[in-house]
Amino acid sequence: MNDSAKPVFAKAFSHIYVERGVRNHPRTCRLLAKFPDAVVIECEDYKEIFSRSRQRPDRQKNAQALLLAASKQPALYPGARVCQSFGNEHFYYASNVMNCVFDCEYCYLQGMYPSAHLVVFVNLEDTFAEIDRILKEHPMYISISYDTDLLALESLTGYLAEWCAFAASRPSLLLEVRTKAAASGPLTALPVLPNFIWAFTLSPEIVIKRYEHKTPSLFARLSTASAALSQGRNVRLCFDPLLRIPDFQIHYRELFQKTFAALTPERITDVSLGVFRIGKDYLKNMRKNRPCAVTCYPYQLCDGVYSYEKKHSAQLLAFAKNELLAYLPESKLFLWQAEENKEGDTDAYEL
Ligand code: SF4
Repeated sequence: MNDSAKPVFAKAFSHIYVERGVRNHPRTCRLLAKFPDAVVIECEDYKEIFSRSRQRPDRQKNAQALLLAASKQPALYPGARVCQSFGNEHFYYASNVMNCVFDCEYCYLQGMYPSAHLVVFVNLEDTFAEIDRILKEHPMYISISYDTDLLALESLTGYLAEWCAFAASRPSLLLEVRTKAAASGPLTALPVLPNFIWAFTLSPEIVIKRYEHKTPSLFARLSTASAALSQGRNVRLCFDPLLRIPDFQIHYRELFQKTFAALTPERITDVSLGVFRIGKDYLKNMRKNRPCAVTCYPYQLCDGVYSYEKKHSAQLLAFAKNELLAYLPESKLFLWQAEENKEGDTDAYEL
C-alpha cells in the first residue's frame, strides 16, 4: 500500500465517545474492537460533544475524535438544490456518517457542522427501513457519501459492504458513492452491482496540493477508478467543484488529458461538472473559522447561494465542457448551473 492509500484514520481516534443507548449495538462493538487502546467515554447524546460552543474545527481535523451514536431520524434527506440529480426524479441523500477524514479547504461541512469530529450513526437499519418504505411508492436515487467519504472509511465502518448487500436485492434503488479515496483493496472486494455508481472526484494536481489536504494524489485516485472500471463497475467522474484558479485552462486541460490517458472514455458512465458553490450561511461560518483563498474569494450571492460571478462561472464551465467533448458525447455530461435569469449581488466581504 503506498502512502497516499493508507487509511488516514490509522493514528486518529484516540478518544471515542459512545452514546449509552448504542453501547451494545453490534456495529458499536465491531467499531470499538478496532481501537483497543482508545479511551472510550460514554455520553447520553453525541451532541454534548459535537455541538459544544466555541469549538475549533480546523484544529480538530488534526486530532479527530470518533463519536458513535444513533440518528434520531432515518438519516435520509431530499437532495439539496446545490447538488445534481443526474435526471433522477426522486433524489435523496443519506447521512449515516458526518464529517470526513480528508480536509478540503472548500468543504461545505466546515460551514455546516460546529465540529470536525467524525460521527458514525450505528443504526443503519433505520435508514434501510425508511428506504424500503419509500421504495413501495417509487424508485429512489440516493447519494450515500456526501457528508463524508465512505470509501476512505470502508476498512473502519464496512458501511459500503452493508449498502451493497442492501441494494443487491432492490433494483429500483440506485446508489451513488462519491469519493476522493485511493482504496482499490476495499473497493474491489465489494460486489459489482448494476445499481451502484462509483463517483470519483478528480482535481488538478495543483488544487489537490493547495486545497485538498490529506487526500490521495490524482494518480492514486485514477488508479482506483481504473480498478473499478476493470471490474465492470459504473464509474462517474466528478470535476466538481471547478475552481477559478490562475491559469485554470492549463491545469484543467492537463487534468482531462491525464484522466483519459488512464481511463477509457467509452467505459465511463457519465461526468459531472460544476463550479464552486455554497450556501450563504455555510460560507459565513467558513470565513470565520478558516479564512483562506477559496473561502474569501469575492463571490456573488444569488438566491442564497454563493458562487463565481455569472460570467466567470459560464466561462469556466464552457471551457471544461468544450475540453471534455473531445473525449465524451454531450449526452454523458451533466452540468450544474445556477438557475437562469437570476442576477446576483456581488459579495462585499473583506478580510
Ligand atoms: S473529500 Fe469531500 S467530504 Fe471530505 S473534506 Fe473533501 S470535500 Fe469534504
